[in-house]
Amino acid sequence: TPILTLQGIYKRYQIGTAVETEVLHGIDLSLQAQEFVALTGPSGSGKSTLLNIIGLLEPPTSGTLQIAGQTTQGLDEAALTRLRGVTIGFVFQFHHLLPAFSALENVMLPAIIEQGRASSALEKQALALLERVGLGNAAHKKPSELSGGMQQRVAIARALLLQPKLILADEPTGNLDTKTADEVFALLQEFNQTHGSACLIVTHDPRLAARCDRQLTLVDGRLQKDFAQASRV
Ligand code: ADP
Ligand code: ADP
Repeated sequence: TPILTLQGIYKRYQIGTAVETEVLHGIDLSLQAQEFVALTGPSGSGKSTLLNIIGLLEPPTSGTLQIAGQTTQGLDEAALTRLRGVTIGFVFQFHHLLPAFSALENVMLPAIIEQGRASSALEKQALALLERVGLGNAAHKKPSELSGGMQQRVAIARALLLQPKLILADEPTGNLDTKTADEVFALLQEFNQTHGSACLIVTHDPRLAARCDRQLTLVDGRLQKDFAQASRV
């Protein structure tokens, strides 16, 4: 069963009072549970917009969206937040770690917001995840004391804490050197394989895209390609 289904998704933005620009022109897309899919395409083709819509951060102008069997149309802000919290984990290029908090606190924050409190069980899980991404010794360090690759691994641990069914990653390796990018990518793949989370990853790196189950290409707001890749079929 699909974890995500998009049907006829259009997105238009109003510019001023009279002009409207259409950024997505009818996107149909289905992602199976456990699929690891690359989203590529030129700058300005609509990748971030599509990811924001899938992540329930902004509504489509028209079209329908189903996540984990739930249709999102008509849900109020509170219901969307709940659905987002239990199904989706975000990883961004510029990780958005809060500088005043330790790595451990950064990993726990979204879960604390979601659950309303910081339990010791949560802290144990967060520490275990930090160990798993190789940062067991850095749990109490501030982001500024960590390298870019380490910060990105903290952001991944944070995205994974609530064991999301769908991981959305917007150029998670964009600002990293090749070796670190490979490590961060491998971490996402490992989580995909061990937990069965589906993953949709925006990347400009053809090497990484080639390692995904499937590669989608967005050009001028339309999906161009949708082919299964020989390597993992
Ligand atoms: P990509 O992520 O592929 O670079 P984006 O989704 O960021 O593409 O943007 C696609 C197009 O939509 C761009 O032309 C961008 O300027 C436009 N766009 C994105 N967000 C808005 C907005 N809030 N208002 C108006 N235009 C927008
Ligand atoms: P990126 O190039 O990293 O994908 P975006 O294009 O998504 O960045 O832009 C970042 C923010 O600016 C988003 O919130 C997006 O909605 C907004 N934005 C992008 N293009 C426009 C635009 N032409 N007019 C208004 N807001 C825009």
